Amino acid sequence: MASTFDGKRVSAEWRAVLQFARDQGVSFHLNSGQRTMREQQALYNAYLHGSGVLAARPNANAPHIKQGRADHALDVQEDGTGGRHRLQAFLRSIGIPTSLTVPGENWHMEADSQQDLITAAFRINSLRAWRKKRARAVALRKVARVIRWRKHWDKAVKTADHNIQLRKKQLGI
Ligand SMILES: [Zn+2]
Repeated sequence: MASTFDGKRVSAEWRAVLQFARDQGVSFHLNSGQRTMREQQALYNAYLHGSGVLAARPNANAPHIKQGRADHALDVQEDGTGGRHRLQAFLRSIGIPTSLTVPGENWHMEADSQQDLITAAFRINSLRAWRKKRARAVALRKVARVIRWRKHWDKAVKTADHNIQLRKKQLGI
């Protein structure tokens, strides 16, 4: 199944990275990710007929297609509050430098290197797996604490019973 982000198809690597950015509080909106040849053809036809924005002729290596690759282009809303800008800065900070590769399109960005993208996605997935494992361990420890507490409680109840009998005898009741 294809991965999606903001309802747009994206590579598994971009999906991991974009979700990580959002989880870290970077606000942005994705307008377009990876397109099929058919979708690109429709955009290209619209462009040719003057009813759409500039779109590349569909081919397997077009920026938004890049079949079999992780590093397809992203269109990220530059919404006046700097969504695209913020995302680019965050990506740079986690080792994925990106560039605006189409003059006049300040929303169209591409990773400078597919390898950087793949590496960062791998790290993010490892981090996520580690956090999951740790959360499980913490939950197990909590259960263990409850069990330990219960054992002490049972022991305390028994001791109390014994002491109560003793006290009753002392008081002659
Ligand atoms: Zn684009």
